[in-house]
Amino acid sequence: MPIEFPANDKFHEECGVVAVYGHPEAANLVYLGLYALQHRGQESAGIATSDRGKMYVELGMGLVADIFTSQRIKKLPGNIAIGHNRYSTAGVSQIVNAQPCLINYAKGSMALAHNGNLVNADQIREALVDEGAIFQSSNDSEVIVHLIAHSHQELFVNRVIEALAGVQGAYSLALMTEHEVVVARDPHGFRPLCLGRLDGAYIVASESCVMDLIEAEYLREVEPGEVLLINEDGLQSFFPFHRQETRRCIFEHIYFARPDSLIFGEYTYSVRKRMGKALANQSPVEADIVVPVPDSGNLSALGYSEESGIPFEMALIRNHYVGRTFIEPQSPIRHFGVKVKLNAVKKLISGKRVIIIDDSIVRGTTSRKIVKMVRDAGAKEVHVRISSPPTLFPCFYGIDTPNRDELIASRHTLEETRNFITADSLEYLHLENMLNMMGEDSGKFCSACFDGQYPVDIDGRGHQPVQLQLFGSETPDV
Ligand code: AMP
Repeated sequence: MPIEFPANDKFHEECGVVAVYGHPEAANLVYLGLYALQHRGQESAGIATSDRGKMYVELGMGLVADIFTSQRIKKLPGNIAIGHNRYSTAGVSQIVNAQPCLINYAKGSMALAHNGNLVNADQIREALVDEGAIFQSSNDSEVIVHLIAHSHQELFVNRVIEALAGVQGAYSLALMTEHEVVVARDPHGFRPLCLGRLDGAYIVASESCVMDLIEAEYLREVEPGEVLLINEDGLQSFFPFHRQETRRCIFEHIYFARPDSLIFGEYTYSVRKRMGKALANQSPVEADIVVPVPDSGNLSALGYSEESGIPFEMALIRNHYVGRTFIEPQSPIRHFGVKVKLNAVKKLISGKRVIIIDDSIVRGTTSRKIVKMVRDAGAKEVHVRISSPPTLFPCFYGIDTPNRDELIASRHTLEETRNFITADSLEYLHLENMLNMMGEDSGKFCSACFDGQYPVDIDGRGHQPVQLQLFGSETPDV
């Protein structure tokens, strides 16, 4: 059955979250955590804290290092804190959408930081607005805040559970009140979230690289469908929703997460390298050097080189002071950005048959520029190998992808794409080879961007994660 895409099938957010409970340096730790997660969002960042019953928040546009001076961190006292990095594109690049969002409601104050995307946020928002709710931002996370405030449950954790029972889609969430932290991961487990411990405090973060930076002990993943309550009684775990099939986002491993992060039970580093090896076996080509598009292609190029025996060369050098190509919201800047970002080392490339490895092709603009750059540097042949399958469908669960129309592979054949990027040959890692490589976990991934198999209906209907025993023995207020 053909999939019907919403008129604007674009999704705009990628985010990172951190939470700390029970540390006198809570704001500082969250600040460091956001630093480690800067790759997950560069548009805005924020930290909320709680000190003796009073909550504080500092938000800003831009990079963590630019927003948080030591003066600003001093304005964030307390031993409970949550933080958020956000990236969004056109239209909604405003401070009002920065998180954590801190609100006061009948029961006190709460702050929320959300990574993911809710597919039924619009329907819930409309219903709430009809009932008189006033929304301050255009982001879908505010819907959760309203649902929590509307709940009649006594305990905050139960209010959160009740709210989450009504939402569909992807969420790795950190919430706090004056006295506690609640974190939750959706029943499919689309986005990563992990738990650590430092000096008796609990740390929760999108990726384990946060634990490394702050020297916290990595304990485990927050499980799909798990809700954690952290307060003065310690840590309690609940599984209040019906079990769903696990559907971790494969694109986290392909592109989004940091390679030094342990997510979904594996280092992204190892997965990317294996993808490169699989690609070398699947799509070999005679050449003199294997060159990654830094940094996204580094590890798959290393794998490709090891497997094929063709020497690895860092013949494209990245200027690290320029953001990811995608980060600039307007397309003229994006096209320009490729040139600003990368330069070819002519001496390494001149006269060579070159294999360029990247993790993905989205619009094709980057690859086209790179192939030209490599040819201009004197390459005899340029072969492009992509360590994931063609991106055919947009993501609705938290990875920024353009409209379907703009995804080059969804409108063009392999040969047309090769022609557009002007490569001598072009091959993508086949979907079955990529999933096989994930071993016994291969069925536990969401690969909707490649195969259109959306685990949660994108129009917001169906696949409702039914709630189990909300008021039963699994929850603390009985
Ligand atoms: P394009 O020029 O549109 O084909 O972009 C391809 C480049 O964008 C590749 O180098 C990818 O590593 C990178 N990329 C892929 N997906 C994303 C994303 N969601 N956000 C930012 N960059 C991305």
